Amino acid sequence: MAVTAVVFDFFGTLTPSTPAGVWDDHAARSAAPLGLPAGVWRAALDSSFPERATGRLGDLAAAFRTLARRNGLDPGDEALAAACAARLAAQRELFALRADAVPTLSELRARGLRLGVLSDCTAELAESWSQLPLAELVDARVLSCEEGRRKPDPELFHLIARRLGVAPQDCVYVGDGGGHELTGATACGMRAFMLRAADWADNEAHSREDDWSGPSLPSLSDVLSLLPRLP
Ligand SMILES: [Mg+2]
Repeated sequence: MAVTAVVFDFFGTLTPSTPAGVWDDHAARSAAPLGLPAGVWRAALDSSFPERATGRLGDLAAAFRTLARRNGLDPGDEALAAACAARLAAQRELFALRADAVPTLSELRARGLRLGVLSDCTAELAESWSQLPLAELVDARVLSCEEGRRKPDPELFHLIARRLGVAPQDCVYVGDGGGHELTGATACGMRAFMLRAADWADNEAHSREDDWSGPSLPSLSDVLSLLPRLP
């Protein structure tokens, strides 16, 4: 196959899976400065994910103010800033990459492949992006909150290919299957592989296509076995 680029999902693919208990803990950390019960805040975060992941609630501070108001609270600037800081700290823990991510991406680059990230994510990842080691390792990113669309919207897959300067047909797509991304990538002409790493079953992913019958990879570094060194 004439593959010239690899597009990766972010959460659960370049990063480890996130078990449900972690989300509870994270919600509690940003609920505390607002004085809201952790369970109420977790429900507010969960139910607003479609809005936050498409940027409709604005940046993190604007989104948190809206969510607090929906729960009958009008937080002061100090409480809001503390909640946002707690949220960013918690989210940044989730941005830590899998142990084999940097070596795998570095080797793919050394082989001459273009690399992209396509993520359904909220403002925290966009706001942190430039500080992440990953930013230096990839040629392009498409983040749902910056594009106003979520997977499997075909425009997102075409957009990452355009930003990489390649045709979708020349892309391998690797993801853990959230947001029906593998079906979406395939529909756009990419060759999609499900990452079914050892922690795959632990994940609490949004609308993951667990019934994917296409090819899969047992670890992220196995993507190297698919791709030869380009001339
Ligand atoms: Mg994922």
